[in-house]
Amino acid sequence: MSAPENPRRADPLGGDLKGRAVIVRYGEISLKGRNRSQFEQKLQTDLAWFLRAHGHAQAAIEAERGRIYIRGSEDTPDLKMVLGVHSYSPALEIERDYGRLQEAVAAFFPAIRGCRDFRVSCQRIAKDFSPDSMGVERELGTLIEQKTGTPVRLKEPAFELHVEIGHRHIYLFSEKRRGFGGFPAGSSGRLVSLLSGGIDSPVATFLMMKRGVLPVLLHFEVSAGETAKVRRLRDRLQEFAAGSELKLVVIPREELFQGKLAGLYNTRLEPYVCVMCKYLMHKQAVALARDEGALGVITGDNLAQVASQTLKNLYASRAAAELPVYSPLIGFEKNEIIGLAREIGTYEISIAAAAGCTPPRDPKTGVDRQRLLKILRETGLS
Ligand code: ATP
Ligand code: MG
Repeated sequence: MSAPENPRRADPLGGDLKGRAVIVRYGEISLKGRNRSQFEQKLQTDLAWFLRAHGHAQAAIEAERGRIYIRGSEDTPDLKMVLGVHSYSPALEIERDYGRLQEAVAAFFPAIRGCRDFRVSCQRIAKDFSPDSMGVERELGTLIEQKTGTPVRLKEPAFELHVEIGHRHIYLFSEKRRGFGGFPAGSSGRLVSLLSGGIDSPVATFLMMKRGVLPVLLHFEVSAGETAKVRRLRDRLQEFAAGSELKLVVIPREELFQGKLAGLYNTRLEPYVCVMCKYLMHKQAVALARDEGALGVITGDNLAQVASQTLKNLYASRAAAELPVYSPLIGFEKNEIIGLAREIGTYEISIAAAAGCTPPRDPKTGVDRQRLLKILRETGLS
């Protein structure tokens, strides 16, 4: 993950605890119709867990018409780790009084003085406030210009002071920090995730977590070093799970092949080893999914990324997949995957060196499904 932002860096509110709040926006969840209150409740529970786990135990959470407000935290928590959070802003919270608003903007003078230009942007969530948004923008703009000497500029200003007029309070803020959006962890259900120590499958797992999936992780051990990486990847993904335990099941890869793997090399079957391996992984994943009450399987497959990831091979290797297979990266560019891996903090773990499996010479790129099934029958592996 990129270095955590210093919460005070761009925070013009300074260290003053009084009136400090964080506005949490959760975009998509508010569209969920009938399930809305369930999602809101889960997001609040997850936020509460996160605040407790990250040294903000004293903070209080309150929901109000499509927004969640956090009050009483000493500095701004890094809410990006809480799935379902669309964006959030450290804000100054004041009573709904225009006179008080005119005074409160002074808290932003030092920051505005240091800027080339600024503007005030007002949103009236509650329409029963006077002046209206345009009036607030115009009047506060003039006031701040007089007091700071910094000119107003409506287009692309260097500093934007947001004024949000709610039903119970007014909020002032200058910063919107981005969250990952999506849905609260585990709110959709469970899937088994085939997790390797590579770059792709942790990102695929995260993307499904972001849609509310609680994954059960399944790794086939190829070396102790690789498994150690997988444990670290689990720990990282765990941080997005809002306190739910991410189970990791590790099975030696030799078990998949019932001890027959070494015997396949240097035979006519060597080129099929990778596709056979994937087929057997899917078979185990389905068995685990049945035990865990999971309704499908996640993989980090990416079409045509390596020679073996052809449509034919994917089709053949999924012959054992009796449950839906979700591969959210299937159409991504490698650069996009790496960008996401960096953002969620799995990249550095994934690129660490560890012994992998022995790739077959000349792996087959277009394995026929029926041919694969025949080979598996012949070798007693189907
Ligand atoms: P990754 O970067 O996730 O390893 P990849 O691009 O290297 O993917 P493959 O090695 O062909 O592609 O693997 C495709 C998918 O199969 C992986 O994304 C993962 O879901 C699953 N997989 C591969 N190896 C393992 C393993 N040892 N244990 C569990 N799942 C695995
Ligand atoms: Mg791999």
